[in-house]
Amino acid sequence: MLIVMKVQATEDQVRAVCQKIESLGFRAHSIPGAQRTAIGITGNQGEVDAGFDEMPGVQEVIRVSKPYKLVSRDVKPDNTVVRFPGSSVTIGEAGLAVIAGPCAIENRDQAFRIAERVARGGAQFFRGGAYKPRTSPYSFQGLGEEGLQIMAEVRERFGLLIVTEAVDYESLDLVEKYADMIQLGARNMQNFSLLKRAGRARKPILLKRGISATLEEFLMAAEYVLSEGNYNVVLCERGVRTFIDHTRNTLDLSVIPAVQRLSHLPIIADPSHGTGKREKVTPLARAAVAVGADGLIVEVHHDPDRALSDGMQSLYPDQFDALMGQVRQIGDVLGRNIAAVTPAAAVISK
Ligand code: PEP
Ligand code: MN
Repeated sequence: MLIVMKVQATEDQVRAVCQKIESLGFRAHSIPGAQRTAIGITGNQGEVDAGFDEMPGVQEVIRVSKPYKLVSRDVKPDNTVVRFPGSSVTIGEAGLAVIAGPCAIENRDQAFRIAERVARGGAQFFRGGAYKPRTSPYSFQGLGEEGLQIMAEVRERFGLLIVTEAVDYESLDLVEKYADMIQLGARNMQNFSLLKRAGRARKPILLKRGISATLEEFLMAAEYVLSEGNYNVVLCERGVRTFIDHTRNTLDLSVIPAVQRLSHLPIIADPSHGTGKREKVTPLARAAVAVGADGLIVEVHHDPDRALSDGMQSLYPDQFDALMGQVRQIGDVLGRNIAAVTPAAAVISK
């Protein structure tokens, strides 16, 4: 259910409605909008008939019929803008967000070499796994906390914001300490206890679509995170499994406008996992921006032949530069620039 407050409703009136919801044992989610505040109710089974429409400041009480509520545009018509404390970078506004880096943090030298190049190329975020969900238990599993420490040094040196994956409860505790945005991977999209834990985290969540997830399942996964009080979720289309075998996955670009129609959450695209093949990454990155993605996450490696994971789909740094040039031009046509990260530029020009 959704309680829409009047345009002129006071903070006290909003608070009184929230208190009433909580006193009934439900959860109140106050969602300020450009025009007015809406208050979502979760935790209820069916309609709550508690006379909310009689309360001061209440305009109307709406039953939300969709299974996802807090992620829905019905509840919040304005786009969500995810912000990062201490940085001017946002995701979900006109600017495009670019997240780039290796699949996995392998060592300090590797991370720094790649970070230097992606910062120079104009990425605002550095990605890299310290905990890797691998199909084989014998494959490289990541450096763990050491990898997180290397990423923290990268942030310090280049001014890039850090994005890295949490694979379970323990790693989420640590990733939350070090990262600016916590990635939840495709294989964990329906790990409901992890989604709830992410909902209690104090950092934004980058939620990747599961390899066979429908649009509704994808939005329901995000709903888990929001329902626990974390409203800073960025969705990521990273390809789904289909019958085709010319790519690793099929990057479903049509999900981007479909999500944008139903939800206020930002959505970015991952053409690296979405294709699995280096030569297809740049064309699909261009297409993703053209279709309206709020940003890209791209794997880059200075020596992909020797990468410990996903070398086949990692761009060489020069290819990343070329991708950025092309994406900038497409962004210009759409009125979407790629904002610079000032500290990084300062460090590099030294
Ligand atoms: C990754 O980003 O390296 C990764 C493992 O992604 P996904 O969960 O989409 O496979
Ligand atoms: Mn990868």
